[in-house]
Amino acid sequence: DITNSEGTPSSSKVLVLVNPFGGTGRALKMFLEKVVPVFTDANIEYEMICTERQGHAKEMMMTLTLTDYYGIIIVSGDGLVYEVINGLMARDDWKTAIKTPLGVIPGGSGNALCSAISHSAGEPFLSEPVLPASFIIAKHQPLPMDLVAVDTAEGRLYSFLNVCWGIIADIDIESEKFRSLGMARFTLGTISRLLGLRRYRGRISFLPVGEYRPKEVTASMKRSKSEVAPPGKSTRNVKKSQSLDMTTDTQLQVDTSGEPGLDEVGMDNAAIENSGHVVTEAGDAVNGSETTADDASPHVNGCAVDSMTSELPGLTEPVPSSWVTIEDDFVLVLAMYQTHLNSELIPAPTCTFDDGLMHLIIVRASITRTRILRVLLAFQEGREVNDDAAEVVCVKAFRLEPLTDRGILTVDGETIKYGPVQAHVLPGVARVMAL
Ligand code: ADP
Ligand code: MG
Repeated sequence: DITNSEGTPSSSKVLVLVNPFGGTGRALKMFLEKVVPVFTDANIEYEMICTERQGHAKEMMMTLTLTDYYGIIIVSGDGLVYEVINGLMARDDWKTAIKTPLGVIPGGSGNALCSAISHSAGEPFLSEPVLPASFIIAKHQPLPMDLVAVDTAEGRLYSFLNVCWGIIADIDIESEKFRSLGMARFTLGTISRLLGLRRYRGRISFLPVGEYRPKEVTASMKRSKSEVAPPGKSTRNVKKSQSLDMTTDTQLQVDTSGEPGLDEVGMDNAAIENSGHVVTEAGDAVNGSETTADDASPHVNGCAVDSMTSELPGLTEPVPSSWVTIEDDFVLVLAMYQTHLNSELIPAPTCTFDDGLMHLIIVRASITRTRILRVLLAFQEGREVNDDAAEVVCVKAFRLEPLTDRGILTVDGETIKYGPVQAHVLPGVARVMAL
């Protein structure tokens, strides 16, 4: 029995939206030749509309009589899914409207949602992803899916994929002019961005799920204990011989200037500022990894988390005191809520559609080019990232404040106005045909 929202009986028909210019402009032909036969076999009744311009799908979603359809099938890339979701969320009846099951057939150049669906259904996203995607839709199995409310200086938008700042956003957007190369544009873009590596100063604040252990600070504390530079050696030598390339020169100077080890006195504010890192929790400076973990846990689990994520303070107001704030130079800040970034990159392999959280991937600028390449390789292979300068934190909400003048910030792969953004999860509000 198919329903389009809890208890609401609905039509047996789906609405198919085709972006005739999606991907390489073959979406319509592909739908007619490959998907229609599957729908016919599975007795799926459909009504098809070709989108006429950007924004058309969003407008339609705002006024559509949703009870006429049990689902909406999108034959395009992530751009059209984004329009459909934001159209549904703009309705007065958004709470029921957004429960309309969404199905995706990969007809765009960026098919991250479709890749995530294929991945979770155990259907590898191969060179022929259209048939498996059609079968998944024919099974009519809607699963709940989280959305993320993103607040920007220009207002609220609803996101289903990611928020990205730094090297991956730069690669993605700056290589757009080489679209015709397909996925090879990412390889080219990656080489170019590694050669001209940029560092971004910024402040990232977040509400972690469970306790937060500040990885890099913890790592440098461990080093300061066991790997204090021998007297007489220059900072640069120490850096080389002991592979301390993740630690900034200033921090090494702090470590080697004869001050007691950080583990003995705790890291005071001045030391943190000298080192270029600011990590605060509940408004205090970090006082050592163990203390931090203990202090953090009461604030970040149970009802504190739930009450905090219903709505966030305004973008210009301070973040709640239970949040963690890191100010540093970064290479990448990427919040993922689907496994895939595109059909070839899987930065968050353990994501599920309705886990109610975001995987916040933070890569500090203390990383080297070779290690960035290793991180990207891990993304490609869907492996866990293992680098002292990179961490993955599960969060319910975050705020990103770029402190570098220029840069690229994307939401679901689309550029948004550069500036502070914040986001919180709306657990399981949408539904996606994904089994
Ligand atoms: P791709 O992955 O190929 O970019 P998308 O689904 O992301 O495919 O679509 C790209 C953009 O095209 C989206 O912003 C969408 O709104 C827009 N669009 C949809 N229909 C049309 C149309 N008929 N003409 C031009 N643009 C369109
Ligand atoms: Mg999720």
